[in-house]
Amino acid sequence: RVAAVLLLLALGCLLGILLLCLGSGDARGPPGFKYGIVLDAGSSHTAMFIYKWPADKENDTGVVSEHSMCDVEGPGISSYSSNPPAAGKSLEHCLNQALRDVPKEKHAVTPLYLGATAGMRLLNIANLEASNAVLSAVTAMLKSYPFDFRGAKILSGEEEGVFGWVTANYLLENFIKRGWLGEWIQPKKKTLGAMDFGGASTQITFETRDTIEDPRNEVMLKLYGQPYKVYTHSFLCYGRDQVLKRLLSKLLQQAENYQATVPNPCWPTGYRKSLSLSSIYDSPCTEKERPSLPLNTFVTMAGTGNGSLCALHVSKLFNFTTCSFSRCSFDGIFQPEVSGNFIAFSAFFYTVDFIQTVMERPVHLPKDLKDAAETICATSWSELLQKAPKLEKRLSDYCATSMFVYLLTTRGYNFNNHSFPNIAFQKKAGETSIGWALGYMLNLTNMIPAEKPASHKSMLY
Ligand code: AMP
Repeated sequence: RVAAVLLLLALGCLLGILLLCLGSGDARGPPGFKYGIVLDAGSSHTAMFIYKWPADKENDTGVVSEHSMCDVEGPGISSYSSNPPAAGKSLEHCLNQALRDVPKEKHAVTPLYLGATAGMRLLNIANLEASNAVLSAVTAMLKSYPFDFRGAKILSGEEEGVFGWVTANYLLENFIKRGWLGEWIQPKKKTLGAMDFGGASTQITFETRDTIEDPRNEVMLKLYGQPYKVYTHSFLCYGRDQVLKRLLSKLLQQAENYQATVPNPCWPTGYRKSLSLSSIYDSPCTEKERPSLPLNTFVTMAGTGNGSLCALHVSKLFNFTTCSFSRCSFDGIFQPEVSGNFIAFSAFFYTVDFIQTVMERPVHLPKDLKDAAETICATSWSELLQKAPKLEKRLSDYCATSMFVYLLTTRGYNFNNHSFPNIAFQKKAGETSIGWALGYMLNLTNMIPAEKPASHKSMLY
């Protein structure tokens, strides 16, 4: 009899589970997908991301994924300041791809956003009218498509940092998870810090229990009913391309004579190039250092491949001395001690990936990064070309960028032998790119509720 009762109980349980499972689907047929499009208008280029998610699972984490993407040909939109309509035109190819990638019947209900970052922040500082003209031109182009256009705007550095953090933690399901029976589970996992190294700015964002001494660095978020105290800072002019310009400017300051060849210890031996002053001083990041020479003057620089001299010049890009708080990263910016695991994407990933795949060196400890940077600096141009012919365009800059990433993470953000191994240099989580774009869309489409959603519908029956 006991066995029969147990069997009945088990059958009852099974039936219950079956009912719950049936309830979780839509009895009127398959729910289908929803789509959303974000154009990430970066300083060096624009990328279009198309996301998709099951229509009946909007409020779950980890369910939105990248459906497809498209790299816009040519430079970032901020480079079109003297011909704004061309900025709009440059997006046509990718937008036409979006017409094909999103099913036709979904076009009108597919939200479309454009977010511009530090390249446009800089143009906005340098030339407000030009920045407005570029935004108007891209807006006009986006409006001419059948999607649900929801605006083109310049993100603040804080938004860029926080949305990158949201993206990474959403994809890794660190906020909330659904259990087997459709119930919500608050994972005990800690959130992941995010580090973004773009073309014109770099961001660091992480959850902390420490006091955030400067309120400008504090963001309080409430996601799925859970509060998060997040530290974030965006360093304008510390993106890869601006760092390289600032470094050239520092090297020129050292040179006594612009007619003679100027040595560049961060370039490999055997590499030389003639540069116009305008290519270095066309940015608000370098304008204070501009020499009193016509901008159409050309100077020739030649690589000397000297890692320790290069490190000395790169370290001049930071101010490590002034701090009016109990602790700072650099340039007088407050930063609590880094804690937990981090994901480092965009040019952090490109730099470390080059070290690992081309130079065939592992990067576990800060010293590995320093040694690798020195090795790159000491490798001649012909040798580098032999190792990675496809990367010719950027090959001369890996010595400087590796040295910069070493100094930024260790002396800047204060990662040490203990915390540095907690950084994963990665550009994707699963098949989805990590960056601010997904977090931005999730926020603007209200897909991350502030409150914990009511338990699964069928649980209420
Ligand atoms: P993005 O993440 O596209 O905004 O790029 C950030 C910076 O990385 C820009 O300065 C790009 O020029 C640079 N970048 C893009 N691809 C690579 C690569 N394969 N190696 C090194 N730098 C890169």
